[in-house]
Amino acid sequence: MAIETAQEQAAGALPEFCNEKLVDFSVPENHQKMQAAVEKVRGELGRHYPLVIAGRQITEGDRWMSLNPSRPEQAIGTFPKATLEHADQAIQAANEAFASWKQVPARERAGWLLRAAELMRRRKFELSAWMIFEAGKTWPEADADTAEAIDFCEFYAREALRILLPDPSRVTPVPGEHNELRYIPLGAGVVISPWNFPLAITTGMTTAAIVSGNTVVLKPSSDSPVIAYKLYEILKEAGLPDGVLNFLPGSGAVIGDSLVEHARTRFIAFTGSKDVGLRMNELAGRPHPGQIWIKRVVAEMGGKDAIVVDEETDLDKAVEAVAVSAFGYQGQKCSACSRAIVVASVYDRFLEKLKTRVERIKLGPADDPASDMGPVINASAMKSILEYIEIGKREGKLLTGGAAAAGEKGYFIQPTVVYDLDPKARLSQEEIFGPVLAVTQARDFDDALLIANDTEYGLTGAVFSRNREKLEKAREVFQVGNLYFNRKCTGAWVGGHPFGGFNMSGTDSKAGGRDYLLLFTQAKSISEKVA
Ligand code: NAD
Repeated sequence: MAIETAQEQAAGALPEFCNEKLVDFSVPENHQKMQAAVEKVRGELGRHYPLVIAGRQITEGDRWMSLNPSRPEQAIGTFPKATLEHADQAIQAANEAFASWKQVPARERAGWLLRAAELMRRRKFELSAWMIFEAGKTWPEADADTAEAIDFCEFYAREALRILLPDPSRVTPVPGEHNELRYIPLGAGVVISPWNFPLAITTGMTTAAIVSGNTVVLKPSSDSPVIAYKLYEILKEAGLPDGVLNFLPGSGAVIGDSLVEHARTRFIAFTGSKDVGLRMNELAGRPHPGQIWIKRVVAEMGGKDAIVVDEETDLDKAVEAVAVSAFGYQGQKCSACSRAIVVASVYDRFLEKLKTRVERIKLGPADDPASDMGPVINASAMKSILEYIEIGKREGKLLTGGAAAAGEKGYFIQPTVVYDLDPKARLSQEEIFGPVLAVTQARDFDDALLIANDTEYGLTGAVFSRNREKLEKAREVFQVGNLYFNRKCTGAWVGGHPFGGFNMSGTDSKAGGRDYLLLFTQAKSISEKVA
């Protein structure tokens, strides 16, 4: 029988973790609730929001605004521009708050997360509505984001109880000694989050840091600051003391470096692109006067994720999974399928079926429940994606899509498939982060796996095959952090599918997994002579 530790007993006092259920919008009551939330939020668009440092709200200063990508003339909210002085003040405030926050028992800190989860549940439809407007998520995509945020709070609360309570050692090398290992927090850190999971990822990194006893300066993406403010609001309402979470939205280019380089920044939790992540890693590596630690960097970065389609499979299911993984949230998920690698004997049939399936996707504003796909996030993303599409037309052949959506004012791009691509083509190698799928033909299954592994990334991947031997081979050699068989490569569940990639996809961390909180702690071994 397994020995139960003090932590396991404490965690056992809570009901077992289970994932938040996704809302079924085909149920009329749910549909009505979502529609009502969309209308409520529509009436709240364009308000002015503060920066928050040590509980002090800062509203004055030059303003910038966050826009609706479905209708860029519509402001979602405005904020004061954060300055370098604010960045310095926020790091100082987080350091001051750390002195008392680290003393709060893990059990109490976990309580804040559970309260936050409850508040999110109560405001579920409203939070999703904000994402529909600010991030261009369709109803189901926004709902999945909110559900994941709730899951992070619930999961990390339990993990804190499992990991962070003092653990008396069962090994006594010297008689008359009491040995103990405890995980203690790192200090004040910076959380820098992307716009593509504006609530879930921001919540995940922030709550993991806080529940582990650290304090945080949160710098969300300038494309999704209002949603991040909603998280701040919820944690505040849950009773989090001032200074534990400082809210500093703004341009990464203006305040990012100074937050990362500050001598009193102890850790950086980042999710975003490879280029920014690598730059941060480099900046964090250089010590500054007065700095007495090596900064910890937790970086989750991009992907060039592939689905391998074998000849021994149900092609309809493979096509469905490829289409959903490639074009869900406009292909703007780090886990999105951006490459389909198809074995030669089924290649032509796959393309035919894929074209039919993709051409059924309905593009439209994210607040319209009939839309399957909304806009891409902003004008510069649109420009870059359209440039990649032109490169793709030269490198391969266009199967479908290939342009901006005619007559739409927002940042709409047709779901685009380019085929007959060389594995070394730019479209096969570079992260585009939009609705563009690159299709490559493989000689056979082994060749498909070689092609799949042949990028600098290693985030997600999937294989469609009925052949057990082939699946076992993929299990061994497909070099990705999240590998899926006979299902889509997006939609990782907290707890069930700890998420994070290899190589240039990040620092090998696993959000929503059993190791994650350890990244926000350091271990202290204490030994006392008792007799
Ligand atoms: P991004 O790198 O442009 O921005 C991410 C964050 O970094 C934003 O808050 C941004 O303001 C900030 N930033 C930008 N420049 C900075 C600087 N010089 N200093 C400090 N901060 C700076 O990424 P994005 O466009 O917001 O997100 C999309 C990217 O994120 C894609 O590459 C995607 O694959 C990746 N992503 C990865 C994961 C994962 O778990 N691996 C999850 C989601 C998104």
